[in-house]
Amino acid sequence: MTMTSQARVVVVGGGFAGAAVARRLERRLPGADLRLVAPDDYSLYLPLLPQVAAGVVPPPAAVVSLTTRLRKTTLVPGRVVGVDLDARRVVVASITGEQEVLGYDRLVLAPGSVTKVIDVPGLREYGRGCKTLAEAEFLRDHVMAQLEVANASTDPAERDRRCRFVVVGGGYTGVETAANLQLMTRALVRRFRRLEPSLLRWHVVQHASELMPGLGTRLGEDTAATLRSRGVEVDLGTSLVEIDDCSARLSDGRTLATSTVIWAAGVAPSPLVGRLGAPTDHGRLVVGADMAVPGHPEVFALGDAAAVPDLAVSPDAVCPPTAQHATRQAPVAAANVVASLQGHPTTEYRHRDLGLVVDLGGTDAVAKPCGIRLAGLPAQVVTRGYHLWALRAPGAVARVATNWALHAAGSSNAVRLGFLGGSTGRLAEFEHTDDYLTPEQVREVVAGRSAAG
Ligand SMILES: Cc1cc2nc3c(=O)[nH]c(=O)nc-3n(C[C@H](O)[C@H](O)[C@H](O)COP(=O)(O)OP(=O)(O)OC[C@H]3O[C@@H](n4cnc5c(N)ncnc54)[C@H](O)[C@@H]3O)c2cc1C
Repeated sequence: MTMTSQARVVVVGGGFAGAAVARRLERRLPGADLRLVAPDDYSLYLPLLPQVAAGVVPPPAAVVSLTTRLRKTTLVPGRVVGVDLDARRVVVASITGEQEVLGYDRLVLAPGSVTKVIDVPGLREYGRGCKTLAEAEFLRDHVMAQLEVANASTDPAERDRRCRFVVVGGGYTGVETAANLQLMTRALVRRFRRLEPSLLRWHVVQHASELMPGLGTRLGEDTAATLRSRGVEVDLGTSLVEIDDCSARLSDGRTLATSTVIWAAGVAPSPLVGRLGAPTDHGRLVVGADMAVPGHPEVFALGDAAAVPDLAVSPDAVCPPTAQHATRQAPVAAANVVASLQGHPTTEYRHRDLGLVVDLGGTDAVAKPCGIRLAGLPAQVVTRGYHLWALRAPGAVARVATNWALHAAGSSNAVRLGFLGGSTGRLAEFEHTDDYLTPEQVREVVAGRSAAG
């Protein structure tokens, strides 16, 4: 038997990058021991999250099952909380609460990113995110609950507060979240006899001087114009200073009475990669253009968690954290895993960005495919066509397309699912960021298990 057929390969993460690497390796390494560690049994198509939050597509339509997609990979349900690169071991915190240690010949790190929470007083306690499926669901419940409470209230100040929604962050996540939820509230408000559409106030608070700076000034202006024409207040050059249960204080001196602050001001790489003892760049694991970790040719990293050089731009540039790059890095990383096992040279990643698409709900969108600036319906056709193409799995494509059609036909059965009963759904409750282990702690775990076993 060769090293290739016996190889133990552990893939960390089942998102855009990790699942695609595992799928390629199933074909390229028949007979190898492939394991994929991920907390969920699905790949989440994150670009659809704002539409999940707004009830345009239901949660199962935004995911692709890993058990269906990966037939020859053993799924390990849990999170990798520590890696000892020298001993080639990872520690998994299983979803059952137990710890498991896995050895590997090759390791692929693709744990993605988490919401970047900065030091704004009250943010963790009162802010709400839209980065996980659960957060999107909580967000919809919360927003719908605000309208119900406003409708039931006789206090005009409370009604104003409940009907004001503040989204912090003018990148595509914040813009899409605000745009889609605003349309949802505009449709829902008609259900409430005592609420006027004019009571609804949506704000996008953006630190930079334009929306979505990565898309170019013109598209940022088009987006701002579309949002403003729909009554959304776009506050550029403004940031959040403090929040509490009933207000948001902004850097321009205003204090907005609100019970809803949605935090969409960027992502930070998974804290796992910061605990490896290996160099990072702005929190992302430093890798070569072949995605190998310097000094550890048996370890590859890609996607949001890795600082993969963007050779198509310049030797010093790093790929932005986008699904487009994560998806395209995956086949190269998988090929390099195989090449490294076979003793062949590895390949550098090189991909020219195709641009971004931004769905503003209904027939509104902006897009810049291959440098061509589009807005309105043509942009929406490109945007939705791109998502269907990128989803790839035929079942998921059918589910998403059907739900878009139902929604466009006005068949929305948006109801509050009651998640808020036992939980607040705020930022502090999501994303485990503080239980990762250093290599020394990993060695202690391994030593403890050896002594016990
Ligand atoms: C709301 C929103 C909209 C977006 N829209 C777009 C868009 O339109 N176009 C675009 O190109 N990009 C978009 N992005 C960015 C894009 O989704 C990411 O760049 C992409 O998901 C990165 O892929 P990834 O595989 O690195 O991470 P992910 O897809 O996030 O996958 C990470 C995986 O790792 C798992 N994981 C996390 N921690 C661990 C751990 N410790 N152990 C094991 N598994 C772990 C996660 O559960 C998940 O399965 C959007 C992002 C968001 C949040």
